[in-house]
Amino acid sequence: MKSAVYTKAGQVGIEVIKRPSIQEADDVIIRVVRACVCGSDLWSYRNPDIKAGHKNSGHEAIGIVEETGEAITTVKPGDFVIAPFTHGCGECDACRAGYDGTCDRHIGTNWSGGVQAEYIRFHFANWALVKIPGQPSDYTEGMLKSLLTLADVMPTGYHAARVANVQKGDKVVVIGDGAVGQCAVIAAKMRGASQIILMSRHEDRQQMALESGATAVVAERGEEGIAKVREILGGGADASLECVGTEAAVEQALGVLHNGGRMGIVGVPHYNNRALGSTFAQNISVAGGAASATTYNKQFLLKAVLDGDINPGRVFTSSYKLKDIDQAYKAMDERKTIKSMIVMD
Ligand SMILES: [Zn+2]
Ligand SMILES: [Zn+2]
Repeated sequence: MKSAVYTKAGQVGIEVIKRPSIQEADDVIIRVVRACVCGSDLWSYRNPDIKAGHKNSGHEAIGIVEETGEAITTVKPGDFVIAPFTHGCGECDACRAGYDGTCDRHIGTNWSGGVQAEYIRFHFANWALVKIPGQPSDYTEGMLKSLLTLADVMPTGYHAARVANVQKGDKVVVIGDGAVGQCAVIAAKMRGASQIILMSRHEDRQQMALESGATAVVAERGEEGIAKVREILGGGADASLECVGTEAAVEQALGVLHNGGRMGIVGVPHYNNRALGSTFAQNISVAGGAASATTYNKQFLLKAVLDGDINPGRVFTSSYKLKDIDQAYKAMDERKTIKSMIVMD
């Protein structure tokens, strides 16, 4: 089968590799229908030390169940499924508390990889896979895009709003105008925020967020950006949603809050750990981590997409064939597209 591989920093190619097979009783083999490139994949893509032939870090897909291990009771061959980037067990304390993105039983093995390929082996599949009614041919391309966001970015945006405990009437600031930030705007609106400000310098991204429920956009950064937010809100925000993963974004997210505010982090940290206590003087609550993709999808996100209540698929502003995956990465790296979708033959 064909699979994307990193060939050198800033380049992705296609290699023909052995099709994955069932190795454990709770494995499922999935034929990928749609996959995509994640902002987090760009960290591997840009890595100057990447070795030629390194497996792609893709971790978001929807597809058809091809084969199931003997312990699988929830799906059967032919089923259409969301393959979330996480693999919760659904039974441990973490999963039952709604934190299947950091399942207590699957520590260190909880993320997918290599999903930019024709087939994938999805481990710990029994609870983590989410069945979609019908078949791909029953859905429009726009709906397939929204279903694909349920593998990562929509639940991740939602997670930021949940861990920051966004409540009805809250004033919320979203840091990051990529796919996760856009989904965080949708999530803040779902949870009843009265004001949602997106920090963004790109007009197309500002426009998308305003159409999804943002009430204002702020292009300024740093102290200037914080001052602008405070001017719009008439004070600090109740919650900030950090969807980037850089220290500058964290500073921004903390700076816009009033004392006692809440910060949700879903940007994978690419900075040295901040000392516990750095937010003490402001009484700020900080929470975050990998999203509870399966939980949110099963409880309400899949229904919200199927009912047309939300349209997160708009973040896919371009589509590519698997053979053109290098362009799919390049377009995101150069910020020419918000998120690239990969359409399988
Ligand atoms: Zn992702
Ligand atoms: Zn678990």
